[in-house]
Amino acid sequence: MIQINHYIQGRRKASQPSQLHPALNPYNGETIAEFPYASAEEVNSAVESAAEAFVHWRRSESRQRGEYLTRMADEIEKRAEQIATAISQSCGKPISEARFDVQDSVDCYRYYADIANGLDDNNNLSVTVSDKAFSSRLQYQPTGVVALITPWNFPTVTTSWKLAPALAAGCTVVLKPSEYTPLAESFLADICDAADIPPGVVNIIYGAAEAGSHLIKHPSVRKVSFTGSTTTGAFISHACADDIKNVSLELGGKSPVIVFDDADIEQAVSAVTGGILFNNGQMCSATSRLLVQQNIAPQLLRRLRQTFADMRPGDPADDNCVLGPLANQAQYEKVCAYFDIAAEEKLNLLTGGKAFAHPTSQFMVEPTIYTDVPLNSRLWTEEIFGPVLCTHTFTSEDEAIAIANDCDYGLAATIISATDEHGERIADQIEAGHIWINTDQRVLTETSWGGMKKSGLGRELGPWGLSAYREVKHITRCTGGKA
Ligand code: ADP
Repeated sequence: MIQINHYIQGRRKASQPSQLHPALNPYNGETIAEFPYASAEEVNSAVESAAEAFVHWRRSESRQRGEYLTRMADEIEKRAEQIATAISQSCGKPISEARFDVQDSVDCYRYYADIANGLDDNNNLSVTVSDKAFSSRLQYQPTGVVALITPWNFPTVTTSWKLAPALAAGCTVVLKPSEYTPLAESFLADICDAADIPPGVVNIIYGAAEAGSHLIKHPSVRKVSFTGSTTTGAFISHACADDIKNVSLELGGKSPVIVFDDADIEQAVSAVTGGILFNNGQMCSATSRLLVQQNIAPQLLRRLRQTFADMRPGDPADDNCVLGPLANQAQYEKVCAYFDIAAEEKLNLLTGGKAFAHPTSQFMVEPTIYTDVPLNSRLWTEEIFGPVLCTHTFTSEDEAIAIANDCDYGLAATIISATDEHGERIADQIEAGHIWINTDQRVLTETSWGGMKKSGLGRELGPWGLSAYREVKHITRCTGGKA
């Protein structure tokens, strides 16, 4: 049995048997590892370790931090298949998708390694001020000890989006991964060791809400970066408000995919299907609301029905698997509860709408489509986080935009239209942090990630991801007009 340990001050800390919990494979229910829930003392010691390490790490040359990040990317690549397998076993994700995740995280470490290389050369630059009696320089400082709290749907990737820019900026970290995916994240300790990351710069503690809650409230934590549910995000936001603590939140979504009547139908089928069935719909960016122009609705829905019905869930370890089980029992029960709500609301079921009977797995559901869903339906307005697509038709462009924006969330959107120019014009009017035109979902490290409205605060990736871990400081003096 693999036993996972907290990683504090560069050392693995053994736990009492009473602190250990099983990590389960949602496909077959087998225990794949045991991991501890951190006590308050362990959380404190992880934060103290990060605070001690910050004294030196913040002063390290940015070029050197870039080298550490490059080494981390190299070490992940060496273990790519092992990590992908752990991801797949931890959250039921098809192995082919897990391999993408690992590659995305490698790309992220390399991207911030490059950025780190140039940071010192672009710091402390003088600012042009209108009053010539003064001079001022701009200094970026690392924020300090940061708490990184990550979810179970994209372990490793979400972690890299936070950890790589935090380290590049000169912050030290305490990471608390989701209690559902400890195995997928446990490799990070080996990677830090192999990359020679100084002790205390990266600390990893395991546990659930209690450990996370203790971590974010620790007075030495200067910033919290959280990805997860909107409910937990609101709790974290409140807790940070009490201490005026900097916080970044990447939360839920109920994103639209808008298909216009001049669209290439096969391209629309691919974008709609991928947008809701990738990772079994368990992604904050899932385009779970399909808005289709009325005159092509019958044709598109016919193709979607066939495509969804043909996609049967299977063993995520199989190279050909495209759909696994849902990631855990709570998630399975939540999705099934929405099937019941749909029945109570008398929604039109096009395909799916129930659990999928499988000899090995208890957490499988059928890919599902409801059509003509009323705009006040709970299935239209609430995030389900499963393979459940709700559709609605529109006649005019203005109607499509209005319905798309009539939503508590604003994370992502997809537009499918014959011309990119048309797509661009619609995209300008959509309230969402990231919009795809005539393509499947792809998040590139150079572009921003994050949402408007209840989808979150702040942005990850790109230069914005780095800014999230830096303080801006100006140093101004009176020169009396002399240089
Ligand atoms: P889910 O319900 O889908 O697991 P959550 O938003 O609850 O999503 O969890 C995302 C991450 O937040 C996980 O690492 C989880 O342990 C952590 N978490 C949950 N509740 C809290 C809390 N009250 N304070 C801090 N972290 C929390």
